[in-house]
Amino acid sequence: MSRPLVVDVGRLLRDPGIRLHEQRATPLVALGVLGSVVPADSDVAVDVVIEAMDDRSLVATGEVRAPWTAECSRCLRPIVGSVTAPVRELFESPSASGGEEREATPDDQEIYPLLGDQVDLEPLARDAVLLALPQAPLCAEDCAGLCPVCGADRNEGDCGCDTTVRDERWAALDALKDS
Ligand SMILES: [Zn+2]
Ligand SMILES: [Zn+2]
Repeated sequence: MSRPLVVDVGRLLRDPGIRLHEQRATPLVALGVLGSVVPADSDVAVDVVIEAMDDRSLVATGEVRAPWTAECSRCLRPIVGSVTAPVRELFESPSASGGEEREATPDDQEIYPLLGDQVDLEPLARDAVLLALPQAPLCAEDCAGLCPVCGADRNEGDCGCDTTVRDERWAALDALKDS
């Protein structure tokens, strides 16, 4: 199994002060939420600067970008978009938390594993994209949606159905006026 987002960071760990600018792009399969998905053949782009905090932990700062496709949550027509998710994530050697107690990070930030001289940016990329994908995308802010009576796309014109809920008292007045 290839892991296209694995980065060799040994150099950083041995020589703190070096910054590594990584730009990678790769398709990631099965990446989506209820309302939208990243197409399996589209690239997810990771653009981060990685720096060592000490000899067992790193921080990756930058952004993750991905295209998505969806159906409009009102009218179901296909739509496309893209997300850009800022990231600032920690990688830490599992052994670092073994011996000594480590303070919990502020706001319970997820810490990704630093394994030997390598970090895998894929979990970071997936998490960032999942958080950024829209759950109820619209083709347009003012999408008129589907008619609840006949199912017609009301963006394409009035289907003629009466979908107003009438107040009985007004109905009575209308009847008086008509007579
Ligand atoms: Zn729509
Ligand atoms: Zn209708």
